[in-house]
Amino acid sequence: MTIERTFSIVKPDAVGRNQIGAIYHRLESAGLTIVAAKMLRLTEQQAQGFYAEHEGKPFYAPLIEFMTSGPVMVQVLEGDNAITRYRELMGKTNPEEAACGTLRADYAESTRLNAVHGSDSPESAAREIAYFFSDDEICPRD
Ligand code: GDP
Ligand code: MG
Repeated sequence: MTIERTFSIVKPDAVGRNQIGAIYHRLESAGLTIVAAKMLRLTEQQAQGFYAEHEGKPFYAPLIEFMTSGPVMVQVLEGDNAITRYRELMGKTNPEEAACGTLRADYAESTRLNAVHGSDSPESAAREIAYFFSDDEICPRD
């Protein structure tokens, strides 16, 4: 068992469709424990800093516009092998390529409006969790 933490966003498209609960249900049913969560509306600066690795790519500006277009839910997920397992649960970036039963196959409408974010490595998870949460906002189960 390798208990890990990963960082997750329910993006503005899914929040706008009132799909927070459905997505949380899928996370919890998959054995991922939500140990921190909050709703916020990202500022342009927050979104740019979060997605700094993509600066200069053709999809960067529209991505920032999308991510600041409405509220998001940000959460920390904990569980065995959580980083890889949550990436698998999300499915590929493009929903047309996402496997059946994945979150993006079921909730994403396009490569940009793709419902959820998840950290892609232990390094990203550590950076992204610290970007949004202080240690005292994380509530592991006893
Ligand atoms: P992820 O880790 O699967 O979320 O994908 P990336 O880190 O490569 O990209 C970050 C986000 O930018 C994606 O989730 C999409 O919302 C958006 N994005 C990535 N690639 C493209 C693209 O080729 N076209 C568009 N329109 N958006 C993209
Ligand atoms: Mg990514």
